[in-house]
Amino acid sequence: MGQTIITCGKLFDGIHEDFFTGMDILIEDGRIQKVGKDIPRPRQAQRIDLSGDTVTPGLIDAHVHLSTFDWRRRGWESVYTSKAWKGMAVLYNAERALRRGFTTLRVVGCHCNDGYASIDAKRAIDQGYFPGASLSVAPFYTGCVGGMADFTRALSGNPDLASALAEDYPGIGTGKDFFIASVREQAKMGADFIKLMANGGFMNPYGGPGDVQLTDEEYASVIAAAHQMRIPVTAHAYTPETIQKLVSMGIDGIEHGSLMDEKTAEEMKAHDVYLVPTMMQYDEIILMDEEALQRREPAEFREKLRAYGPQLRAGREVIRESRLRLGYGTDMCETYPCYECGREYASWLRSGFAPFQALRAATSVNAEILGRHDIGAIQPGMRADVAAWGRDLLADPDALMDCCFVMKDGTAYETERG
Ligand SMILES: [Zn+2]
Repeated sequence: MGQTIITCGKLFDGIHEDFFTGMDILIEDGRIQKVGKDIPRPRQAQRIDLSGDTVTPGLIDAHVHLSTFDWRRRGWESVYTSKAWKGMAVLYNAERALRRGFTTLRVVGCHCNDGYASIDAKRAIDQGYFPGASLSVAPFYTGCVGGMADFTRALSGNPDLASALAEDYPGIGTGKDFFIASVREQAKMGADFIKLMANGGFMNPYGGPGDVQLTDEEYASVIAAAHQMRIPVTAHAYTPETIQKLVSMGIDGIEHGSLMDEKTAEEMKAHDVYLVPTMMQYDEIILMDEEALQRREPAEFREKLRAYGPQLRAGREVIRESRLRLGYGTDMCETYPCYECGREYASWLRSGFAPFQALRAATSVNAEILGRHDIGAIQPGMRADVAAWGRDLLADPDALMDCCFVMKDGTAYETERG
């Protein structure tokens, strides 16, 4: 692959909350060799001039769902397309995210049944058959029959169809033994982690975010079985009660956590549990944007946001003021294409987070959450995953929608902007 020298305008290294100027990055065989001012520039090295741009590590989105092509037809694609189609959707979305500067994605389950296609896609990308962001995968939602994990609930008008599809879905079931078996099977097939659906939701028309989905015995069995297989568990959870319970059972992370209170944040911190707050989905109610809220589909979602409005606003503040380990994740399912991972940055900035906190979340903190020690920072020895941005990252909330350069493992790809 040879050597490459990148000349940076400003450089955010993924760790220090500051920009460095006048830095070069020397890359050899897909790895970062040297970073600094006045480092030797081998004559045969390929030169990439990003002196007018801000260079960052390739970004990481810690909360994506990739198994459908078209977010407007998510429900339809879930039921009326094959597992092969869903696998192709994962590849398609992983490539488009890469071209937008996101070199790694954490797939937090598939709301339909893709038959482990996300793991196939991950392997095919790793082996170089397709260009795409590298993937860390929880293959399915693990949860209860008829709950947040059960996409066949929408088909209850046709019990034969609903049952047939549910039977084939390895994540939905009842009882401790089922959950132990499900986790072991997912681990066997190559799951990087387990995604537990612990509460109901805002998006799902059945019930609400306070609904408890599993019995205590079932929750505990998921966590214990995963830890026995040496893989972490993260949970879709909203309420303080459920989060505290899972923290006491040894959970590794929480997704959303939008109804957070101070005591729960303290408990999470005490047990070193991270949070991926996926803020964008709740912004209209938190930032009081009534016009945008009116455009929201479906109506049940709007009504639930309104009912929980004050709690969601309080929760956002607790999250901002807490010193929790926060990851950056978009969770776009039915609002925008799932590969537009830069959208979440605006939520962080508009909610009063410091830009460098968001940038660290999308780089070194997310790398830690993924258990990856080879990405998330521009440092010698790291994989050469590099992105560059033309706009002002400190002032422009849409700056991460405008990637002007991306490289993964030392190979540069054409970018896609806007
Ligand atoms: Zn999600």
